[in-house]
Amino acid sequence: MSSSVGTEILLPPASLGVVGGGQLGRMFIQAAQRMGYRTVVLTDEADGPAAQVAHEVVKGKDDDLRTLQRFVSRVEAVTVEFENVSSAGLRWLSARIPTRPDWRAVRISQNRLREKTFLSRHGLPTAPWKPVRSAEELAVAVAEVGPSMILKTASSGYDGKGQIRIDEPGKALDAWDALGRVPCVAEGVVDFTAEISVLVARGRDGQMETFPVGMNRHERHILDSTLMPAPVGPIVSQEARDLARTIAEAMGYVGVLCVECFLAREGTLRVNEIAPRPHNSGHLTIEAATTSQFEQQVRALCGLPIGPTTLRSPAAMVNLLGDLWSGGPPDWSNALRTDPAASLHLYGKGAAPMGRKMGHLTILDPDPETALARALAARQGAVVGNVPI
Ligand code: AMP
Repeated sequence: MSSSVGTEILLPPASLGVVGGGQLGRMFIQAAQRMGYRTVVLTDEADGPAAQVAHEVVKGKDDDLRTLQRFVSRVEAVTVEFENVSSAGLRWLSARIPTRPDWRAVRISQNRLREKTFLSRHGLPTAPWKPVRSAEELAVAVAEVGPSMILKTASSGYDGKGQIRIDEPGKALDAWDALGRVPCVAEGVVDFTAEISVLVARGRDGQMETFPVGMNRHERHILDSTLMPAPVGPIVSQEARDLARTIAEAMGYVGVLCVECFLAREGTLRVNEIAPRPHNSGHLTIEAATTSQFEQQVRALCGLPIGPTTLRSPAAMVNLLGDLWSGGPPDWSNALRTDPAASLHLYGKGAAPMGRKMGHLTILDPDPETALARALAARQGAVVGNVPI
């Protein structure tokens, strides 16, 4: 699936484009700029996280031909910050300039039905699942995947949105109604002991490096913290890293890819999701790894060698969600007094509704659990008023 356009190595100060204006775009741009590249973002948010730091902003929608024409005239290669971009727009770009990851890989992870089909076709382990596109298919899913299952909309669901857990077969139709009877995936509920993720970076020449496994904790279906390396033992860790390599290889992927897995109670891994981009669970690689996930994205895009993924230190990251703002602006001074070694990242977002990812904190510590405890304490230090975090 590698792009047919562009085989030359792009050296600084080449101009790199990113489609999408959020924090992942911002951190990609920061890594690219450190290496001396020019950066251009295509976004409809003129003052969003990525636009604030880019050399140049092409304002508009990524499925608008005029916007794409302006963008392509300003950049020598393109990446995406998030999978929910227009795959038609990405395809248009990829016919003109190097575009990595490939639009087909992005398209697979935009839709849970395509993603699950891809994984099953390649013999990769997932939760038991069935497609639900009709009442008949729902009945089959209840019989074969149920009685307990999670119904997930095939597209535009993230952070637990568009999901309903069903524990009684009689409630299945109501649940599908509540999701608007859109195409869904019905998944068996995995009895897991941990949620882990692996990031893999794959270069144009097929060179691949996986980062150590991260262990993720979610609150209300939103990632709350990651620690790396995950305390999962060498066999599970190697299996997880092999899974990520297999997926990247099967896609002919060029770029950074994240594979999220459940570690089931019986010790087996089940792939939950693939993200065709750097991931929230890899933010701590900015400080903790020899080459961060964002620098790997730059290197893969430009045809440079993929860097080593060794950790300088175990680390933990905690997210700073909008909830933290509910008692007023957080007290960052007190957070840094609580732990002066904390690395504070704020994404420059204006409004801070509950659940919005506003920033994160990273702590390096020889013991990852201690790193997590310190990161949580630093975050607690930022709390103003009575905020439930
Ligand atoms: P997702 O949007 O698919 O990442 O799901 C969000 C969260 O819901 C996951 O991080 C899990 O905590 C939970 N979840 C999703 N699918 C399953 C499943 N098949 N079994 C158990 N828990 C799940």
